[in-house]
Amino acid sequence: MDAVSTIAVKKKLVIGWFSFTCSEDSTILLTELLNEHLDDWKKVVEFRFFKALKSKNSLEDLDVAFIEGAISSEKQAEEVRKIRANSKYIVAIGSCACTGLPSASRNQLIPDKINEKIKFYMSHFDYSDKVRKLSDVIKVDDMVDGCPMNVPNFLATVKKYLDLFQIQ
Ligand code: SF4
Repeated sequence: MDAVSTIAVKKKLVIGWFSFTCSEDSTILLTELLNEHLDDWKKVVEFRFFKALKSKNSLEDLDVAFIEGAISSEKQAEEVRKIRANSKYIVAIGSCACTGLPSASRNQLIPDKINEKIKFYMSHFDYSDKVRKLSDVIKVDDMVDGCPMNVPNFLATVKKYLDLFQIQ
């Protein structure tokens, strides 16, 4: 038996990071966190889908998908259903994903007060009638609230899933 075949491949936590309708501030926050945590995370985490950092991304067989942003179109709803089907766990990231707001504030517009500019956008782009929080569309296992996300809660959630998958 050669030396290579005797070395067990260490399991890493396979994660995806996704953004929908939002300002993507939690993505910016995560890239800031990488300054401090990348060396440690590289040993235990595989970023399989993270468009802000990588051009080659795959949805295949994710352990945990982190999703920020609200869902504002049927196309987005289809995309998150696909992510759900490929992920063992889903974590909603930030207030827009957890509660819909502030991205869902257009739900509160009074119909006869909507101006021409808003009507133009609503009729020319693929928007659903209402903006939805993530759990209105798919089952969500965990939430990290905050606008942007609460960092200690996010780090605790990453640790929770590393522990759950027995990855050290
Ligand atoms: S929760 Fe706040 S920071 Fe996060 S995407 Fe929404 S508006 Fe931006």
